[in-house]
Amino acid sequence: LNRRLAAFGTTIFAEMSALAVRTGAINLGQGFPDTDGPEEVREAAVRALRDGRGNQYPPGPGIPELRTAVAEHQGRFYGLTYDPDTEVLVTAGATEAIAASLLALLEPGDEVIALEPYYDSYAACIAMAGGTRVPVTLRPHEGAFRLDLDELRAAVTDRTRLILLNTPHNPTGTVLTHDELAAVAALAVERDLLVITDEVYEHLVFGDAHTPLAGFPGMRERTVTISSAGKTFSYTGWKVGWITATPELITAVRSAKQYLTYVSAGPFQYAVAEALRLPGAYFDTLREDLRTKRDLLADGLSDAGFTVFRPSGTYFITTDIRPLGESDGFAFCRSLPERCGIVAVPNAVFYDHQAQGAPFVRFAFCKREDVLKDAAARLKSLAP
Ligand code: PMP
Ligand code: GLN
Repeated sequence: LNRRLAAFGTTIFAEMSALAVRTGAINLGQGFPDTDGPEEVREAAVRALRDGRGNQYPPGPGIPELRTAVAEHQGRFYGLTYDPDTEVLVTAGATEAIAASLLALLEPGDEVIALEPYYDSYAACIAMAGGTRVPVTLRPHEGAFRLDLDELRAAVTDRTRLILLNTPHNPTGTVLTHDELAAVAALAVERDLLVITDEVYEHLVFGDAHTPLAGFPGMRERTVTISSAGKTFSYTGWKVGWITATPELITAVRSAKQYLTYVSAGPFQYAVAEALRLPGAYFDTLREDLRTKRDLLADGLSDAGFTVFRPSGTYFITTDIRPLGESDGFAFCRSLPERCGIVAVPNAVFYDHQAQGAPFVRFAFCKREDVLKDAAARLKSLAP
């Protein structure tokens, strides 16, 4: 293994999901739903397979039906206009979109500002692209992890090429406010930076609706917006993602994508094209259902003695384990299956400054209500 990757080892999600399988514990580690998404979307995939649509290589940028549906989605929910032929690129999940964007846009030595804690593939992909990551730490403030705009401004140097943003934010569940996004946008314009914005949890927000960064003044031409079908339609195994950006940026990212996967799985693209056109009630129900689950698990964690940062979006609740007399999230997560039959993820893995993340532990609530109730009862046995 080369030096760029050696530091990263096995992803925490693989390690913790294996631990859950080995111990039979409830897996609140890796974020994936334990029930499938809409039946009609699954049927659309079956139909495409059966009819031979997408069983041979689909077009490199993605099938026209899906590119059109992505462009329509950006218009329908956010009033943003993208040309399906030149401003949309289909990828193998958001993961490939992140990798291809960084590989396409970074020169070796370029600095990338990312909100810490950050999703683990960011660090690995910045490293593979030869970039240098510059973390800006979200800090607990009045019950949520918040961005300090002065710290963000201070992190920009002459070598900064781009900001890698993520809102709604994994693992903290923070949703950046309109004012925070406006400030990020103003900074990007002032310092002439690109922004890659990971919005895979765009429909999983429990307060004000998600606001895409690309809609702010001066941002359309400098923003690569990434999303994916996994979370919005509860089919994380399908790995259909997409990028919206200007033709220049799409062409650049496509140059990298064509040599990573060339294309993404065909039949699922037809199904996701249909999914993106589901009526508003689908998206409302998804959100409300998840809000109920969030509250179930958040209340259970509170009762068990954790400090809970009740999230405004995503699948995840970050907790502070110090009220339980614990301080090392890694050790805590490794012992949790044996102690109470639960798997969780230590937030420290999402930090460069691991000490900052040490007492925080992430629990996923995208699970059936009976599973969450069982989990809450098990966690209660930890109460001091
Ligand atoms: N970004 C974030 C913030 C995520 O949490 C995830 C995991 N779902 C991804 C990207 C990857 O998405 P996908 O499964 O579509 O590759
Ligand atoms: N995004 C999911 C999480 O944060 C899992 C993704 C993965 O397994 N790579 O848990």
